[in-house]
Amino acid sequence: MALVKCPICSQREHKENMIQEDKRYYHVEYCHERWKRDKEATRIENQQWDDLYQYIIKLHDIIVLPTGNITRLKDLRAGFEFKDGQRVRKWNTGPTFELMLEAYLLAEDSIRWCIANKLDGSRDTRAINYGVSIMIDKLNEAFARKKRREQHTEQFERTKISSEDKNISNEILKNKHNKIDEMDISSFL
Ligand SMILES: [Zn+2]
Repeated sequence: MALVKCPICSQREHKENMIQEDKRYYHVEYCHERWKRDKEATRIENQQWDDLYQYIIKLHDIIVLPTGNITRLKDLRAGFEFKDGQRVRKWNTGPTFELMLEAYLLAEDSIRWCIANKLDGSRDTRAINYGVSIMIDKLNEAFARKKRREQHTEQFERTKISSEDKNISNEILKNKHNKIDEMDISSFL
C-alpha cells in the first residue's frame, strides 16, 4: 500500500486514509481542514490586494503600479517599514490590504491635494510613495473606525436576535390560538 506525505504535517500515511485535493493527499481530521482554511485566507488576501491595487491606479490615473510601490505596500503588509532607506520590522504582521484601502479612502483628499499642489500632477513612483506615506498616517484612524463598525454590527446582531426571539414567541402564541385551524389540513391539499 502506498504511503504519501501530507503537505501540512509532513507525516506519511496510507492514501486510503486520506483526502485527495489538487493532486495532494491530506489527513482527514486536522490537516485537510487546515489546508482549506489556509486556501480561503489566501483567496481573501489576493482579493484585498487586487481591490487596493485597482484603487491606487485609479487614484493616480496610471495603468500599472510601479514595482517600487508594490514592494513597499507588500513589505508594509508583512510588517516592515522603510526608515531612511532601511527596512525596519515594525509589527509582527502588518495591516491588511483591506485596512490600507480604508486608510487610503480617509487620506484621499489630502493625497489629491498634494498631487496637485506639491507634486505638480506627477504620477511617478515618488508621487505614489508620497501617497503611501499619507495613507500610513491614516492607518490608526482607519483601524479605530473599523473597530467601531464591528462593535455596531455586533450590537445590531444582538438586538436583531432578541427581536427575532420576540417574533418567534409571538408566532408560538399565535399558533396556539390557531391550533384548531391548523388541524384542518384540507387547506394544504
Ligand atoms: Zn497531516
